[in-house]
Amino acid sequence: MSDSPTLTADGLETYLHCPRRYEFAHVHGLEAEDDDASRDRVALLREAICAALRSGATDRERLEEIAAERLSELWAGHDEPFHSRIQRNHERAVLEAVLEAYLEAVGVDHAAGIERLEGSANELVGPALPLASARSLSAEDGPNRVRIDAKVDYVTRTESSLVGVSFVPTLAPLGLLRYRSDWEGDVAALFVDHFDGGSDVFEPRAVGALFETSVVVDGLRRLQERLDLEAKTCRYVQVPLADRNRTAVNWVQDTVDATVEPTDLTDVYIDHHTYAMTHEHRNETVDSRLVDVASDVLGGSFDPTPRWDEIASESCPDCEYAVGCQDRLAAEVRFDG
Ligand code: SF4
Repeated sequence: MSDSPTLTADGLETYLHCPRRYEFAHVHGLEAEDDDASRDRVALLREAICAALRSGATDRERLEEIAAERLSELWAGHDEPFHSRIQRNHERAVLEAVLEAYLEAVGVDHAAGIERLEGSANELVGPALPLASARSLSAEDGPNRVRIDAKVDYVTRTESSLVGVSFVPTLAPLGLLRYRSDWEGDVAALFVDHFDGGSDVFEPRAVGALFETSVVVDGLRRLQERLDLEAKTCRYVQVPLADRNRTAVNWVQDTVDATVEPTDLTDVYIDHHTYAMTHEHRNETVDSRLVDVASDVLGGSFDPTPRWDEIASESCPDCEYAVGCQDRLAAEVRFDG
């Protein structure tokens, strides 16, 4: 696998939003500005939680104590420009409330699951733990294998599964996937329609999340083999840490309450037809499209024209590369003329 070209699940999602955007970011290496401060705050909480999980503690009080201490250290060095000290204190209180809610929802169980991994536990707590999946390509010229990387923040165990967990700001980008528990039905339709040239369905985030799930689940399978871990299945869970809809502020009592509701993307990913044949969490439709998109990327296919209408209306408006993008400028000239 080491000689294979390498792509990332994040990069493939960028390609789904717009192939030209992928070219700017990953071929030319042009950096885009990310001005979403919630990402930085999630990064602090992610690191604090991982410090607690890595400590080997499994009781709630100790986990909270270690995470809060690490969060306090990180917060002291956090130089986000807040409007006022009150706002700064409020954002810190939100992080502490989310930490409590995370431990309540899944953190304590996940810490116990990490302990069950015994000798491998330290190796399996990140943040940003890399997982790799190798896929065969069918192109006549070019490479015949590709490695696709994804990151999770830690790996834990349940009774029967090895579970990769990623912290994300919110689950909003998942769209329909948040509200469904099966692939069959409208998730399958959304996925297929996204790739149908005759359809105006354009769902790069949801499709990207299914690609990511495929890569993570396969990456966990490889990890399981490499470390000789016992588990029947592999699963992928996202935990939102900056979901404003799940934060309630009482300004009178100066308190913040939060709830954290993780989502398991495995159930919307697996198709039961493939599962019945392989007894593994797989989805042939997603996996084969993943390979097609990876082949397009490696083949240098960066022209956004085939999905131009959707890209122009959905991707261009918030694109960090819009100012210097010839496709966008040419379209504006055509429109004005
Ligand atoms: S401005 Fe539009 S066409 Fe250009 S890279 Fe961004 S999304 Fe793609």
